[in-house]
Amino acid sequence: MPTESGRIRPVGPGADRPPQGAFSPGTDQPGRPPTEGPPIKGFVETSFVDWDGRVAAVLFLPGCNFRCPYCHNHALISDPDQFETIPLAAVLSRLGAFGPWLDGVCVTGGEPTLHPRLFGLLEALKDAGLAVKLDTNGSRPDVIAEVLARELVDHVALDLKMVLEPAPYALLAGPEADVLAVSRSIDIVAKSPSAELRTTVVPGLHDDNALDQMAGYVPPGLKWRLQNFRPDNAFDPEFRRRKPFTEEEFAALVRMAQGLRPETVAG
Ligand code: SF4
Repeated sequence: MPTESGRIRPVGPGADRPPQGAFSPGTDQPGRPPTEGPPIKGFVETSFVDWDGRVAAVLFLPGCNFRCPYCHNHALISDPDQFETIPLAAVLSRLGAFGPWLDGVCVTGGEPTLHPRLFGLLEALKDAGLAVKLDTNGSRPDVIAEVLARELVDHVALDLKMVLEPAPYALLAGPEADVLAVSRSIDIVAKSPSAELRTTVVPGLHDDNALDQMAGYVPPGLKWRLQNFRPDNAFDPEFRRRKPFTEEEFAALVRMAQGLRPETVAG
């Protein structure tokens, strides 16, 4: 899931192709430096909008198993080669230069949990003394469970895109979305020390009824973040022509959701 910063460091030909295929647990062993991290395709040094109340760097990993029509970082999915691969050592060096001014690092994508060497990256960030936030679409609950068990992340932001039924979810995430996996991921992050669910609300797809149902999936006490759809640079050209909810309409949806789940926030 792309973060709110929506900025990816540009590119150049010849960048490495992101690894395809399934998660391979144990590729990086605990306590050892990564032999090779996942390909970092974007690096925002400081963002004020990607982690509540924190100044955070943002790392973008390529590839995703979902196809959300509103995705803004679809170039990371459809053509990651256009972005140069940024060496982990260079990232760590820059992060070190920020010292105490930096409150943490957001690892986003694309979908970070698809990468076999995600653990190595997270370990390197933790070894550098950095707090880490993981953005995920929830399709790999086993990976989420393991990074939490190994205390490699401090906060998880998990997408809840729609009612957890295959047909409606596919409208927002594409045909590969596994709603049972997302449901398992919600159960897992509900037991973690710090997590939130995130929903981008889209006119014509999300309404009071949908949010009413979705509120039932939000574990009590967990933050539910609603974001208004933005048409600019959406993956699906048809979505680029859609209008977002007006401010008033969006505020009404947030109020309605807060009536069901008081921990709902906007933005
Ligand atoms: S989960 Fe959807 S929004 Fe997030 S990176 Fe994948 S396609 Fe884009």
